[in-house]
Parts: sequence; structure tokens; C-alpha cells
Amino acid sequence: MNAPVDKGHNAPCSNRDFDFFYRGLEREELLAQKCDGCGTLRTLPTPACGHCHSLNWSEAKLSGDAALFSYVVHHHPPLPGFPAPHPIVVADLAEGERMVGAMDGTDPASLRIGMPLKVEFLRRGDVAAFRFRPA
Ligand SMILES: [Zn+2]
Repeated sequence: MNAPVDKGHNAPCSNRDFDFFYRGLEREELLAQKCDGCGTLRTLPTPACGHCHSLNWSEAKLSGDAALFSYVVHHHPPLPGFPAPHPIVVADLAEGERMVGAMDGTDPASLRIGMPLKVEFLRRGDVAAFRFRPA
């Protein structure tokens, strides 16, 4: 029998591209991949850079400052740990990339495209997570 791997987080999925992101959330840090070849940030972790195809990358800490680019309001099906309805947003990060995230705890009727957002860290059960809040 194989010993469990200490991946440093309790997120429900684990792989070599995403583990750093969840370990960052455990420290209340929002991280992205930064290509060692060309410096491009990747907020959706991938094995290779889409610009220069380098496989080498480093962790980059993001500010958590953003602006609301777009959103949908999730009604159904129920998601464990999330009240319904709750907004799911695409945020323009201060660093120039976009990121998808939850915005539960905020009234969907109060959302305005372009409004300033800030990342907030929280726990969903035993899993470290983040969500966007009005800044
Ligand atoms: Zn690159």
C-alpha cells in the first residue's frame, strides 16, 4: 500500500500544477505561476507557458486587488458550502490577468461591472479557499 503524499493542503484535487496554489491559500496568499522564460503570469495553472512554451515557472504572489469584469449568479444545483444564489465572478486582477472566483456573501443585486474587489481568505470546511469581496 502506498503512503499518502503530503501535498501540503486539503483541497479536493491535487496535481503538480495546482498544489502550489492551494498551499498558498493555506498561508492566505493568492499565487499565480510566473513563467521563468518570459515572465508571463498564469492564473489558471498549466504545465507550459502559452507564450514561449517554457516548462519552467516560479510562484508569484498576487495583491488580491481586482475589478469586476463579469459575473453569473449561481442558483442550481446546490453546491456544498455555498449559499444559493451566489455570484461567480471573472475579475480583472491588478496584475493584468483575469481570474474566476466565488463571491458568496455578497448580494448579487449590489454588483456593478468595474467595481473594485479584494480577495478574502476563508475556510470551507477543512479546505483553505478564497473569494472576492467588494473593496
Ligand atoms: Zn513564457
